[in-house]
Amino acid sequence: EPPSADRVAQALHDTFGFSAFRGVQDRVVDRVLHGRSTLAVMPTGAGKSLTYQLPAVLLPGTCVVVSPLIALMHDQLRSATANGIRAATLTSADDNRAETMAALRAGELDLLYVAPERASQPYFRDLLSQARIALFAIDEAHCVSEWGHDFRPDYRLLRPLLDTFPQVPRLALTATADHHTRADILAQLGIDEDGLIVAGFDRPNIRYAIRPRDNALRQLKTLLEENPGPGIIYAPTRARVEQLAESLARATGRRVLPYHAGLAQEVRARNQTAFVASEDMVMVATVAFGMGIDKPDVRFVAHAGVPKSIEGYYQETGRAGRDGDPSVAVMFWGADDFARARMRLSEIEPHRQASERTRLDALAALVETGECRRAVLLRHFGEDPPAACGNCDNCLEPVGLIAVTDLARKLLSA
Ligand code: ADP
Ligand code: MG
Repeated sequence: EPPSADRVAQALHDTFGFSAFRGVQDRVVDRVLHGRSTLAVMPTGAGKSLTYQLPAVLLPGTCVVVSPLIALMHDQLRSATANGIRAATLTSADDNRAETMAALRAGELDLLYVAPERASQPYFRDLLSQARIALFAIDEAHCVSEWGHDFRPDYRLLRPLLDTFPQVPRLALTATADHHTRADILAQLGIDEDGLIVAGFDRPNIRYAIRPRDNALRQLKTLLEENPGPGIIYAPTRARVEQLAESLARATGRRVLPYHAGLAQEVRARNQTAFVASEDMVMVATVAFGMGIDKPDVRFVAHAGVPKSIEGYYQETGRAGRDGDPSVAVMFWGADDFARARMRLSEIEPHRQASERTRLDALAALVETGECRRAVLLRHFGEDPPAACGNCDNCLEPVGLIAVTDLARKLLSA
């Protein structure tokens, strides 16, 4: 017997402090509470965590959450615990593993976060057999697909664990998955096709612009002068991050800090904390920055160089304007970016090249188009877009087609 609507609304309010569900949350939660396996595709910031945390609170037994990064797990743990949810992580970084296992067996945990490599170990299967399991939540589920933009082989090892508990529903969650990847996730995790729920992808408050790069420093300086609010600039390399952060701070007098994986952990943490708290700071970063950061008032996201794929572009620009206020996403691209990206393709595993090429081609098509940017972006994610959005550079100031792929091809063969 699933809990009544009243009980669900009560828990939503009492545990999470929310007065209503957002978007497709209610549909996802309802399926899960009825024990039906589900794949929810919801954009970043749409509130995926709630769709397993709320059932975890309401259902008897523990919800096991598979998550790819220890840092992400610890963030989630902190916010769940702050809401009074009984949660724990089971990672190599935890020294209270024996306690956690005892709590799990005793039925004292609502949520247990684990990494996929641990989840796939036989001892973990045995451990779960000694407990009552309410739900398997698989976060960042695109990692299970070779078609996904961030394939992790460990995710493939989850299936035997899930199949050991056939009566326990599975909830797969991802922000970005095209048609091919969705079908693959469903097949890999053994979820019925009718279990797919896709939220709208449109972010109408984000104004998209994609421009050829002539002088990156000058173009970014102008952007910073026109946009006084907090913003993120993505740069392709650590060296470029450092260089741009320094030059832009000097050129604009604004507070501009760097963030990349080569910085000491405490510097990264300090810069991130400063950014989240700030109303005017600019973070120049590699793609290492952004996942799991909850800052609703980011006013602009710029790309000084092309992202890895159209999924990457959507995810990174999606960090702008989560509060719903007007925000901008600007990419400054160069033909040499595409030439380099194509060369990198030849260095990856052959069986992954086709899907990566498709993703890069989709990005090139977005850059090249004279059509509405939003229309191209939304169609990629399987949505029927409006004819013209009126809030992108091509709608606002129509220009001709730019042959980026031709340019890149010429540069490559030169
Ligand atoms: P995702 O994982 O989809 O990127 P999160 O689960 O991190 O998103 O949630 C994003 C933000 O939305 C969080 O600050 C969360 O507290 C908030 N949120 C989630 N659901 C609701 C809701 N129903 N009402 C208001 N805020 C919500
Ligand atoms: Mg999330």
